[in-house]
Amino acid sequence: MKYDVIIVGAGLAGLSCARALHRSNTPFLLVDQSDSVGGRLRTDYINGYLLDRGFQVLFTAYPDTKQELDYESLNLHEFYPGSLVRINNKFHKVADPWRKPINLLNTLRAPIGSLQDKLKVGLLRRALKSKSLNDIFNGEDIQSRQYLKNLGFSEQIIQTFFRPLLGGVFGDSELVTSSIMFEFIFSMMSAGETTLPEQGIQAIPSQMGQSLPHKSTLLNTHVKRVTGTAIETSSGDHINADTVIVATDGPSAETLIEVPYPSYKGSTCIYFCADKSPGIKDYLALNGTGYGPINSLCVPSNVSMSYAPNGKSLISITVLGNKYDNDLDMMSDVVTQARDWFGNEVDDWEHLNSYVIPHVLPDQSPKFSRIKDQTVYLENGVLVCGDYRENGSINGAIVSGKVAANLALAKLASI
Ligand SMILES: Cc1cc2nc3c(=O)[nH]c(=O)nc-3n(C[C@H](O)[C@H](O)[C@H](O)COP(=O)(O)OP(=O)(O)OC[C@H]3O[C@@H](n4cnc5c(N)ncnc54)[C@H](O)[C@@H]3O)c2cc1C
Repeated sequence: MKYDVIIVGAGLAGLSCARALHRSNTPFLLVDQSDSVGGRLRTDYINGYLLDRGFQVLFTAYPDTKQELDYESLNLHEFYPGSLVRINNKFHKVADPWRKPINLLNTLRAPIGSLQDKLKVGLLRRALKSKSLNDIFNGEDIQSRQYLKNLGFSEQIIQTFFRPLLGGVFGDSELVTSSIMFEFIFSMMSAGETTLPEQGIQAIPSQMGQSLPHKSTLLNTHVKRVTGTAIETSSGDHINADTVIVATDGPSAETLIEVPYPSYKGSTCIYFCADKSPGIKDYLALNGTGYGPINSLCVPSNVSMSYAPNGKSLISITVLGNKYDNDLDMMSDVVTQARDWFGNEVDDWEHLNSYVIPHVLPDQSPKFSRIKDQTVYLENGVLVCGDYRENGSINGAIVSGKVAANLALAKLASI
């Protein structure tokens, strides 16, 4: 059998590509080595707890994601619009004053920077909300840390607030990520809600996959070789197509085709369960001290009860980078720091699972966007897409899949 298009990789990029082809009635085959669609968006169901493979959230303002998904049936649950910053041995509320004016005084009092810094956050929020995405993506491209300094923010607010907040989003504790990505994500945070789907983050790709035609997806199939018109699977099957699209992560793409990809940022997500919820409600708690392994901590079951069985709490802790050689050392330092934050109740927490994720997001240091200026057609006619070709986010992956689908349709039309 010959298909019009074969897509290798059923993460968000592959799924959005498949959906665009389906909308134009183009026969395709979507192939993935895994046992389910979703790529980096997977959720494990363990003893009644929903464990996302790495803490991640959906910003409802993502423009292409909004078009692609039915938010209502995902039953999105919102985080509190603000954070708790751990500094000087206390948690301090830093809320979005436009949405939660009641917390204005707490925010103004929080020791995360001067009054001027906090006013500047408000001004930046307003400026970015009205800046078009086109202007953002064609704007200044410098390290986020320098960008914030240029805007007049103090070192104190950069270290205590921006570093853990955006460091967590980009997997980058040094704030070297491009100011383009800073502006994009900060505007998304300001324009919409930060959410978790009721059935876990994997509900996003599951919903995308549901609308694909019967038998158009081939799972548990590792592709070991591709050309512009065929793939070869590890079991030796050859499948032909007019066009092949490689929609894998960067490192996998490199083993299949010669395509440049940036280095990746890694992180570890550690889950605990407890009878008593640590008292941080539906906030994201950020480590404003710069000390210790924890970058951020939250209680997903306080955001959506579906994440834990009745009467139980699920605690999610994110540690950035790969600085620990030994998991036991990391766990011991994490528990010590959590005990410092929440006291002896941490001794009653039970470890559920840990996810060490070496390839969370592509490095998006300045000039990261140059990679997408290189053609998505490779010399042998293969097309490529994936978050590393656009930008490292749910939205970036969805956009890159659509771009590849449009190119494939143009190629088919010219045959
Ligand atoms: C821990 C974590 C936290 C994140 N937090 C956020 C967040 O809060 N907000 C946000 O917007 N984004 C976040 N992201 C980023 C977002 O998840 C990714 O940008 C997006 O999912 C990438 O999708 P993709 O389709 O490009 O790649 P992937 O999801 O990596 O999909 C690639 C697919 O290709 C398949 N594949 C690879 N090689 C082969 C082969 N040889 N044969 C067959 N199949 C193959 C893989 O199995 C996989 O399914 C986070 C990511 C992680 C991991």
